[in-house]
Amino acid sequence: MYFQKNIETMKRSELNALQLTKLKKMVSYCYNNVPFYHEKLTEANVFDGSKIKDLSDLQYIPFTTKDDIRENYPFNMMARPMKDIVRVHASSGTTGKPTVGVYTKEDLDIWSDCVARVATAGGATADDIIQISFGYGLFTGALGLHYGLEKLGATVIPASSGNTKKQLMMFRDFGVTGLVATPSYALYLSEAVKDAGFPLSDYRLRLGILGSEPCTPEMREEIEKNLNITVSDNYGMTELGGPGVSGDCPVRKGMHFAEDHFLPEIINKDCQVQPEGTVGELVVTTLSRQGMPVLRYRTKDITRLDYSPCECGRTHVRMSKTLGRTDDMLIIKGVNVFPSQIESVLIGTPHIGPHYQLIVRRKNFRDSLEVKVELIDGSLLVNFSGLEALQRDIHDKLKSVLGLETKVTLVEPKSLERFQGKAKRVLDLRNES
Ligand code: ADP
Ligand code: ZN
Repeated sequence: MYFQKNIETMKRSELNALQLTKLKKMVSYCYNNVPFYHEKLTEANVFDGSKIKDLSDLQYIPFTTKDDIRENYPFNMMARPMKDIVRVHASSGTTGKPTVGVYTKEDLDIWSDCVARVATAGGATADDIIQISFGYGLFTGALGLHYGLEKLGATVIPASSGNTKKQLMMFRDFGVTGLVATPSYALYLSEAVKDAGFPLSDYRLRLGILGSEPCTPEMREEIEKNLNITVSDNYGMTELGGPGVSGDCPVRKGMHFAEDHFLPEIINKDCQVQPEGTVGELVVTTLSRQGMPVLRYRTKDITRLDYSPCECGRTHVRMSKTLGRTDDMLIIKGVNVFPSQIESVLIGTPHIGPHYQLIVRRKNFRDSLEVKVELIDGSLLVNFSGLEALQRDIHDKLKSVLGLETKVTLVEPKSLERFQGKAKRVLDLRNES
């Protein structure tokens, strides 16, 4: 077991005192070691943080944005000389130029602690044999989970992504009990398991430790059903060191934040700090990172924080599943749409599978959204009235949830793209015409 009880169930007053001590140290560390922060903190009159007396004084510290990090690409945000750095990672580059993260030995140690914690909360133990089907490389996900799972004593199989046949062979031959992957890849693999024709009882899979992209509860259920596993979600990003920032506990009503290492806030679009429970953009200050610390980093992820006690006994705040990134939000005819809202509607509708694609177009200054969905059974394609009724049903459900007219297109089974990493389900053609 890797349950760090003394930390994970700390009284809030003690936790806040710890955070305050670490915050003061961190501000002074950034001021003294990172020219970018020296300048920013001087401009904001915060200087070395000696004026910080309370956690609420965090509000005087300027935000750090993804652009700030990109402008300082690759190593200008570093707080240590290169000789102290033992590892470099970079983001997947989902929304543009990748951002770089660097780690000291101590950073790697704390990181694997955080991941071990998240994996334990998700149900992993030293008895598990866990296949890591994240792509290995600069991406933080694979090596992050790799070291975290080794730390808790699980047997790690560094499968990487791709070569589906081999993935299934390892599942069966090695008696794999846990899968680490993106939800999209887990979905893909679950389909492959079905197609391979062996009964689920041939597999020993019981756990899915999934993360690195949004996953609606509906998608989670689909994956759980297909693979006969229990899925836990975990969250993180390169700018904060990678996975291990927060993760599901068995209660699965929000992911517990590693609050001894990360200090979260929620802001609205005017950058005002929001009261507990409000949905907004997550902002995080690292309290422990040495190689590349960040102060008030705007994650662009939309979520909310819940400080109420959790049945599992952990006291660290829970963040809800993200609605997506601010960059993912589509504005169509003035209506804000998150792909995750559409996913929730589609999954669970009879006759259609969990695969979809969203296509946004602009014609004569008017936007339109086409939702392509796969049928489970291709024979419905020749049943015109059945097809029409299904299309209307999906259209009406989407209309009531989104308040938007959509064009629903039903396509043949297995005709849409599958993903081995993070899914790209939105095709926005508006700037191309
Ligand atoms: P990139 O931003 O290029 O995808 P990263 O690999 O660092 O690079 O990914 C971090 C981002 O992935 C987060 O900011 C968030 O948007 C998304 N993400 C990671 N884990 C989760 C999760 N469990 N749920 C939802 N989104 C997640
Ligand atoms: Zn809990």
